[in-house]
Amino acid sequence: MKLEISPELAELRGVLRRFVTEKLEPIALEIDRTGEVPAGALTLLREQGYLGMRLPAEFGGGGHDLSTFCLVLEEFSRSHRMFTLFLDATSGLNPIAIARYGSAEQKARYVSGLASGHLRASFGLTEPEAGSDSQSMKTRAEKIEGGWRLNGRKHWISGAHVADVVMVMALTDPAKRARGGITAFLIDKGTPGFKVTRVDTTIGSDPIKLAELTIEDCVVPDSAVLGEVGQGFRIAMDSLTSGRLGVACSCLGTADRLIEMSAAFAKQRITFGQPLAERQAIQWMLADSVAELEMARAYTYETLRRVDAGEEVGSAASICKLTCSEMVGRVADRAVQIHGGAGLMRGSVVERFYRDVRHYRVGEGSSEIQRMLIARDLLR
Ligand SMILES: Cc1cc2nc3c(=O)[nH]c(=O)nc-3n(C[C@H](O)[C@H](O)[C@H](O)COP(=O)(O)OP(=O)(O)OC[C@H]3O[C@@H](n4cnc5c(N)ncnc54)[C@H](O)[C@@H]3O)c2cc1C
Repeated sequence: MKLEISPELAELRGVLRRFVTEKLEPIALEIDRTGEVPAGALTLLREQGYLGMRLPAEFGGGGHDLSTFCLVLEEFSRSHRMFTLFLDATSGLNPIAIARYGSAEQKARYVSGLASGHLRASFGLTEPEAGSDSQSMKTRAEKIEGGWRLNGRKHWISGAHVADVVMVMALTDPAKRARGGITAFLIDKGTPGFKVTRVDTTIGSDPIKLAELTIEDCVVPDSAVLGEVGQGFRIAMDSLTSGRLGVACSCLGTADRLIEMSAAFAKQRITFGQPLAERQAIQWMLADSVAELEMARAYTYETLRRVDAGEEVGSAASICKLTCSEMVGRVADRAVQIHGGAGLMRGSVVERFYRDVRHYRVGEGSSEIQRMLIARDLLR
């Protein structure tokens, strides 16, 4: 079955597929060799118009809908997760939240720079004792004359070690917490009392780095508050529908590539005198992967269409995130199995995908949290 997408998106997919194969894939292999993203990668994406895609034109953005953005995420995910992180940094939570909730001064200061990738922002919500249950945070902001004094600690904040600005969520009214007691602050790099105290790497690719931030008597002016005092949790949750659909589409793209690679390998690898592709055990692994991918893709595309049409989608974004992230985990596992030892070797693309996709079941709300939200919607 061929999924119906608009002629424009179908044409864009062809353009993207060529761009990813010819331009991004060589960079992906270089990232694997060196552990670093070459400086020209961001410039290339900027020149091709892939940065700031979801932001309005007044900030130098492309003004694209979510379906278009997610198609780009899907196709880029066939190559290397780092490319999707660039898309997210320039069209994701931080630039969109500032464009939507920021004061005129904040918009002028940050949004165009974030959209073009010249400025980098991070999102500081998670703390050592507040992950899934983020509203149990301890980071505190106390009102002082002309501003706020912040104290606390954030950890596992993507890219915070190189961020020019971090959106830090802090308690301004501990009694209210998620119901109006959390405020978002934009804190610039180098602000006294605001330090990167550790950088962590994960099971995923080497350039993916998370940082710990220690905040000690850090004083910021009133103008550092994003939106209204007490609106922070809403700002954070607001972006979750598009964030979850973005993750879902990244999973679709990687699963598609893994199936393609597995089928190609199975056709050329001979064991006991025959290609692996002739064996029913291998065929069934491929068939299960294709079936799961196509089902997940159909529901995700339909959800994207509904979001772009302005419909309220309830827990559908959670269903997409849960289904796609669990699906790509199984597809990656089968891909490694089909490749045998070749799928386990450091430096092999399958091995790197296997590690990178493990993030998807934890970040942006784990599978358990998505199940909780889906059940809550059902039982409401
Ligand atoms: C690659 C990566 C990038 C990240 N980037 C950022 C970032 O930029 N900014 C940021 O603020 N955070 C970031 N995080 C943190 C991420 O948001 C948290 O890891 C996530 O919210 C889960 O929190 P936790 O790891 O503390 O797990 P916990 O909340 O301690 O949960 C542990 C396990 O228990 C499960 N669990 C928790 N509560 C329940 C429940 N009620 N019922 C059943 N099971 C439950 C969870 O699903 C999980 O499997 C990142 C994490 C990763 C891995």
